[in-house]
Amino acid sequence: MKHFLYNWAIPRSLRNAAVKDVGQRSAIGRFGGWLSIVVNFLLFAAKLLVGLLINSIALIADSIHSLSDVSTSIIVIIGYRISKKPADSRHPFGHQRAEYVATLVIAVLLAVAGVEFIKSSWNRVLHPQLSVVTSGVLVFVLLTILIKAWLGGLANYLGQRIDSATLRADALHHYTDSVSSILVLVAIVGSRLGYPFLDGAGGVAVGIMLIWAGITIAKEAADSLLGRAPSPECIAEIKEICMGIDEVSNIHDTIVHSYGDQKFISVHVEVDQKNSSLKAHEIATKVERELARRLNAYAVVHVDPIDLESPELLALKKSIDEFVSKSNEIREIHDLRIIKKEDHKKIFFDIVPVRKGLENCRELNDCQTLKQLIQQDFHDFEIKIHIDRMYTYN
Ligand SMILES: [Zn+2]
Ligand SMILES: [Zn+2]
Ligand SMILES: [Zn+2]
Repeated sequence: MKHFLYNWAIPRSLRNAAVKDVGQRSAIGRFGGWLSIVVNFLLFAAKLLVGLLINSIALIADSIHSLSDVSTSIIVIIGYRISKKPADSRHPFGHQRAEYVATLVIAVLLAVAGVEFIKSSWNRVLHPQLSVVTSGVLVFVLLTILIKAWLGGLANYLGQRIDSATLRADALHHYTDSVSSILVLVAIVGSRLGYPFLDGAGGVAVGIMLIWAGITIAKEAADSLLGRAPSPECIAEIKEICMGIDEVSNIHDTIVHSYGDQKFISVHVEVDQKNSSLKAHEIATKVERELARRLNAYAVVHVDPIDLESPELLALKKSIDEFVSKSNEIREIHDLRIIKKEDHKKIFFDIVPVRKGLENCRELNDCQTLKQLIQQDFHDFEIKIHIDRMYTYN
């Protein structure tokens, strides 16, 4: 069914493949936008004409709603056009986040339309205005409902194919439109059966739906604009790629920024400290290249030398790991170092807390206990513990 109804909108060569190319994504996104402009404009003209002919205020209001949809679709297209623009000196990360800005604008317009709808509908509850309705009009409204549902399905399908929040937002909008037209249908039938207030009541319900849709869409766009957490799959993939390099024994403190399909990654890789700095640089470069090749990412790799021989360090690591394995508050530790200088002796390490958001050792009972425990064996040492931040992953 999907193939028959929607697949024609995707170029033949892309039908069975993931669409990742920026140019192709943008072409499909723009197509979705143009299609909804044309269909909504035709719906607007037809609804307005029929609405005026039979003097139905519900239908005229619905036609104005369709006209407002034309304007949101124009914003979708402008958003795609801007997001395709290459990076420039003022926007060195490219313009792909423009898509989220466009989505946010759609959401606001949707909510505003909802408020307007509630206002005018409440008027109609108080002062119902009966209109003459023929069976032909009912068939016409039914047809507009089906067209909108199909358009929503198509936008949703295209949105999934190119993983576009804007298109999925557009799809949700089309669906709410078809439900709002169902309410118009109910209102018209109700008027015909002698319950004219149904007209206004349906309008209020449609308005609430529009506001709800606007808030839902705005949230998703805002998440992407503010900087969304990378998915667990993304973090797992980064780890797999890094560990694929022989000399890397582990990774930690991964940070990911996404701009559309372009990623910026920084990661710490653990490497045997016996490697020369030349070799360590080689390893880091290898990891950076692999991340670039497989994830379309610009990566910066920080090398953490790991001491695999010092008995003192290994013993300390072992006792800390034992403590951590029993802790409910600490997931793991990394970057453990024992530093002995003439004047100052220090022990450093990072803690990955189970519950993210805590940033101070004082907030974690287990962190303080661990500190005291280490202090017993290393009383003339300063113990510096860093708690990993929200935005780092392991
Ligand atoms: Zn590190
Ligand atoms: Zn370099
Ligand atoms: Zn860390």
